[in-house]
Amino acid sequence: MGTLYTISAPSGAGKTSLVAALLKEMNGIQVSVSHTTRASRPGEVDGVNYHFVSTEQFQQMLAQSAFLEHAQVFDNFYGTSQQWVESTLSKGIDVILEIDWQGAEQVRKLMPDTVSIFILPPSRQALRERLTQRGQDDETIIARRMADAVAEMTHFVEGDYLVINDDFNTALNELKQIIACQRLQLSRQQIRHQSLLAELLQ
Ligand code: GDP
Ligand code: ADP
Ligand code: 5GP
Repeated sequence: MGTLYTISAPSGAGKTSLVAALLKEMNGIQVSVSHTTRASRPGEVDGVNYHFVSTEQFQQMLAQSAFLEHAQVFDNFYGTSQQWVESTLSKGIDVILEIDWQGAEQVRKLMPDTVSIFILPPSRQALRERLTQRGQDDETIIARRMADAVAEMTHFVEGDYLVINDDFNTALNELKQIIACQRLQLSRQQIRHQSLLAELLQ
């Protein structure tokens, strides 16, 4: 079984960029593509960044219990496909869920072995600048996201790990170390090195 990770952060803290960089550098780990009712941003591709669905389609999936977790964030609905997560974990692949704190809370209850990571920006000013520099949301949306940032950030205490995304490469290395640590846990090493351990103890 792979390990399930949730990564939560206020919008603009750098979670998506960090996860994308992490996946380029590490094997055996994938990110879940969420379903959302939010409109796609310029450059976002359906099925890559998100599965973009109508509110009706989302409600239908909800009724069919298709979501491992779902939440309303910034007036839009977001949900994680249960089937994809389960089948990927069962192949021994680690899975990252880039989800808000409400979703992380639901997942922790359902799957207590989940490792939850919180990412925070180095300052409020940096958060505002990153949201603006990304250039994908208009002023009203940025103001709304800044206003909601404090509410999201107060939940950092619920995580297992906290990463401050000041210098990008430092934060990326810290994320890599968290994953490496989980993989080195005795119970996982015993499975991975079963034959070696048997041979050594003969
Ligand atoms: P996206 O997650 O597919 O939209 O990837 P992008 O590269 O476009 O950037 C991440 C987007 O997620 C940003 O537009 C953020 O506004 C939005 N977002 C809102 N809250 C969060 C959050 O807590 N974490 C992350 N990663 N993104 C968030
Ligand atoms: P999130 O997914 O958390 O909303 P993004 O990954 O979209 O955040 O990052 C928001 C913006 O901040 C992007 O333009 C990204 O390139 C930039 N960014 C991310 N990390 C850093 C960092 N450590 N220093 C400076 N800019 C960063
Ligand atoms: P954005 O629309 O900017 O990509 O994301 C907005 C917020 O929704 C972020 O806090 C992000 O973590 C959260 N989010 C994205 N996908 C999911 C999901 O599948 N479930 C939950 N609960 N939150 C999600």
